[in-house]
Amino acid sequence: MATRHQLYEYDYEKGTIKLKNRLCPRCGKVMAKHGDRWTCGSCQFTIFERGKS
Ligand SMILES: [Zn+2]
Repeated sequence: MATRHQLYEYDYEKGTIKLKNRLCPRCGKVMAKHGDRWTCGSCQFTIFERGKS
């Protein structure tokens, strides 16, 4: 899957990817993990995990 220009960047490079909640880049609320994606419970912003297939 081709990766186009991204609106946001995350700290994948740090290698500290754990099952820890992230903060929504849009509204700053805590996001919840649902399978292979993160969803903001406040504004419904969704981030799809990458690197796994
Ligand atoms: Zn949000």
